Amino acid sequence: MAFVVTEPCVGCEYTDCVVVCPCDCFREGEQMLYIAPDACVDCDACRVECPVDAIFHEDNVPEKWIEYVERNREMAAACPPITERKEPLARTEN
Ligand code: SF4
Ligand code: SF4
Repeated sequence: MAFVVTEPCVGCEYTDCVVVCPCDCFREGEQMLYIAPDACVDCDACRVECPVDAIFHEDNVPEKWIEYVERNREMAAACPPITERKEPLARTEN
């Protein structure tokens, strides 16, 4: 089981979630973050920190974003770790 980052994260200006994770689960994609599911211990700390409610437990991901469960697994394996708060992520039009 793991937590999952979903669509509202795209273009996030607050990477507040990464600093509360005790297991360094977050990975930095070009436009959003992902959680490495094998590292996540379901502590729930990141979910409450996210100001746009982009994070869900995988059992609670809204149906319209269910594809993000697998996408987090795939993208987390391909993206570098992020453990410190950063400036806004890149936006699509850039
Ligand atoms: S706080 Fe984290 S999960 Fe929430 S939108 Fe920002 S980067 Fe994504
Ligand atoms: S639930 Fe806890 S361990 Fe999992 S990604 Fe969020 S902060 Fe990290």
